[in-house]
Amino acid sequence: QVHNNGNSKYSDKIPKIKFTKLFINGEFVDSVSGKTFETIDPRTEEVIANIAEGDKEDVDLAVKAAREAFDHGPWPRMSGSERGRIMMKFLQLVEENIEELAALDSLDAGKLFELGKAAEIPFAFSVLRYYAGAADKIHGKTLRMANQLQGHTLHEPVGVVGHIIPWNFPIGMFLMKTSPALAAGCTMLVKPAEQSPLSALYLAHLAKLAGIPDGVINVVTGFGETAGAAISSHMDIDCVSFTGSTEVGRVVMQAAATSNLKAVSLELGGKAPLIVFDDVDVDSTINIALKGGFANKGEYCVCSSRILVQEGIYDEFVTKFALYAKGMIVGDPFDPSTHQGPQVDKQQYEKVLSYIEHGKRQGATLLTGGKPCGEKGYYIEPTIFSDVTDDMLIATDEIFGPVVSVIKFKTIEEAIAKANSTCYGLAAGIATNDLNIANTVSRSLRAGIIWINCYLAFDASCPYGGYKMSGFGREFGMEGLYKYLQVKSVVTPLHNS
Ligand code: ADP
Repeated sequence: QVHNNGNSKYSDKIPKIKFTKLFINGEFVDSVSGKTFETIDPRTEEVIANIAEGDKEDVDLAVKAAREAFDHGPWPRMSGSERGRIMMKFLQLVEENIEELAALDSLDAGKLFELGKAAEIPFAFSVLRYYAGAADKIHGKTLRMANQLQGHTLHEPVGVVGHIIPWNFPIGMFLMKTSPALAAGCTMLVKPAEQSPLSALYLAHLAKLAGIPDGVINVVTGFGETAGAAISSHMDIDCVSFTGSTEVGRVVMQAAATSNLKAVSLELGGKAPLIVFDDVDVDSTINIALKGGFANKGEYCVCSSRILVQEGIYDEFVTKFALYAKGMIVGDPFDPSTHQGPQVDKQQYEKVLSYIEHGKRQGATLLTGGKPCGEKGYYIEPTIFSDVTDDMLIATDEIFGPVVSVIKFKTIEEAIAKANSTCYGLAAGIATNDLNIANTVSRSLRAGIIWINCYLAFDASCPYGGYKMSGFGREFGMEGLYKYLQVKSVVTPLHNS
C-alpha cells in the first residue's frame, strides 16, 4: 500500500534544519555536557539532525533564566493587553512561517503535511489567538463578607512553569501549553519529546523575534528520564504541565510531590469509545469512525480505538468499515494523496505490531490490515479487529497506533457499561439520531469530552481534559488559563470600630 516513502520527489519540501541547540535566556546554546542525540526521520529511518541533549544542569540554567524573568523581568509586570499585543505579533510570525513549521513536524514526526497546513496547525494558531485575546480579561472578584469585611481577589501568574510535551502534535502541544501560560504572565521552559524536537526550537526563535522577552520561554531538548525528570523534581519550578502516557504522568506527579509540591496538571492516555446505535446512517458514521480511529495514525490520546456497535447494524458496519479502511493510502506524509504516514519511531512501531499479534493470539478477528508496509520507514496498515471482547489487551490498553477494535452490544445500559469499563476517561463519541439516547448516554459517560455525531471536534474555547486515569486539569477555554494563575485574597475592614 505504501508509495513514495522517503521519495526524493518531495525533497523540495524538506526544510533546512536551522536550530538544533537548547534555547535558554534568548540564546541558542550547546548543552553543558556538549552531548547531542539524533532525531530520526520516520519515513526513512535516517538521521535528520543532531540535537543538543539537555540534562539537569541545562534545566537548572533554563529555570534560572525563567526565575529571573519572572522575579525581575517585564513579562509578569506588563499589562495584559501589552502581553496580548506581543502574543499577536508571535501569531503573525508563526502564520507567516506555517509552511516551514508544518514541514518540520512532517519530517520529525511523520505527520501529514497538507493536513498540518490546512487544519491542525491553524487550529494551534487559533489557541494562541484565543489566549492572546484572553490576556487582558484576567480579573478577580470583589466580596462583601460577614463581620463588616470587604475584599477582592487578585489573579496572579503562578510563576515558573515546566511544560513536558509529547511527540504526536509537536507544534500544537507547544502552542497549547505555552499560550495560556504566557497570557497569565508566567515564565516557562518547554521540554519537547526526544522524537520531535525540531519545531519547538523554531517556535522559540519566532517568539524571540516577536518580542517575547529573554527568559520567558526556554526550550530544553533531551530525554524524559534526564531532562524531563529534572523538571518534575525541580525545587524552583512552581507548576508542571505534562501531556504524555499515564505511566510517566504518575512518575511526574510523584516527583512533584517529593520535591517542592509544585502544582501539577496531567493530560494522559485514553481508550476512547465511539458508541454507534442502530438508528444511524452507516456510511456517514463510518466516516466518523475512520477519522476517530485512524487520525494521526492512531497516535492520538482521544482516538476512538474502541468502536461499540449495536447488534442490528453490526454486520453491515463491520463489513463496510473494513472496506473503507482498506482504501486508505499509507505513504509519505509529504504526498498530498496520503491518508496515513509512518509511526513516529521504531519503538512505537514495534509496540503497535506487538499489540496486533496479541489481538490475533487472543482470538479477535482481523478484518483488515495487521501488517507493516513499505521497505523502509515505520509504516503500518490501518488495522481493524472485530469480535473483540472486553478482556482482550487490544480492548483495554492504549495502543497509540492505527489499530481499532469493534465490539458488539445490545442495550443502552450495556453500551454505557462497556464504554466506562476502562481506567481512562478522556473522550468518547456517540452516533445516534435519537436525542434522548444522546443526552442519556452523554451524561452517563465518565470522560472529559463527548462528541455526538462528530469526532475530534476541538475548539480553543472548549475545555478538554481527563477523568479517571486520563489525568486532571483542562486545556483550552478559560479553564485552560486558570491552572497558570494563583488566587490571592485581600481583606479589609469596612470601618474602624
Ligand atoms: P509517549 O508514551 O507518548 O512517548 P511519554 O509519556 O513517554 O509519552 O513522553 C511524554 C513526554 O514525557 C516526553 O517529553 C518524554 O521525554 C517525557 N518523559 C518521559 N519520561 C519522563 C520522566 N521520567 N520524567 C519526566 N518526563 C518524562
